[in-house]
Amino acid sequence: MRRALAIVSHPDDETFGCGGALALNAQQGGSSQVLCLTSDPPERGDELKAACKALEIDEPVIMGLEEISDEGDVIRRISDHIVSYKPDILITHLPSDYHRDHRATYEIVKEAVEWAAHTTTYEEPWLVGRLLLMEVNTLISSPHVLLDVSEVWALKEAAVECYPTQLAKFEDGYYQRFTRAKAELRGVQGGCEYAEAFLEEPLQRNGPFYEAKASKSL
Ligand SMILES: [Zn+2]
Repeated sequence: MRRALAIVSHPDDETFGCGGALALNAQQGGSSQVLCLTSDPPERGDELKAACKALEIDEPVIMGLEEISDEGDVIRRISDHIVSYKPDILITHLPSDYHRDHRATYEIVKEAVEWAAHTTTYEEPWLVGRLLLMEVNTLISSPHVLLDVSEVWALKEAAVECYPTQLAKFEDGYYQRFTRAKAELRGVQGGCEYAEAFLEEPLQRNGPFYEAKASKSL
């Protein structure tokens, strides 16, 4: 059973960036969860809960940070969550994202993934299998992964509708149109109807801190 965890800055990032991937993984018998760092104003947290229900994935965890920074024990709290949820696949933001919060989240998550794998931090560390980076409003120029989400497209569209506070910001249906157009573009590239695009980030092996230090074969 594949476990997927999306760590995002704000409620709605998960739906726009990887809602299809999370829903598809759950439909295929895996479990999918969102860890959201902020929820401002708090009613956006209720929208996130509704969106996760629409995607038919686990209840989200909302950290409720006032701002996204690595102050205090933020990285440790995230690595604790990684160690307890044990994700095979972790999805987060792009380092080239236009939004400062998204870039900061990428940096924090990279560090939390590293600490979660260290035997010096945890008695039972967790090594994330794959780290995927999603596109919210900033597009990836050359994706590594195109995931066919046609089967769960209706769930993703239903999740978008769970964000009235965001949708109301634009009269022209910007978010709905952008979400569909992006998925259609990726679908054209992927030879399917609707797809989501990701960059794959190779995981680092920095020192003597891991349970399995070397691979036994290529
Ligand atoms: Zn965001």
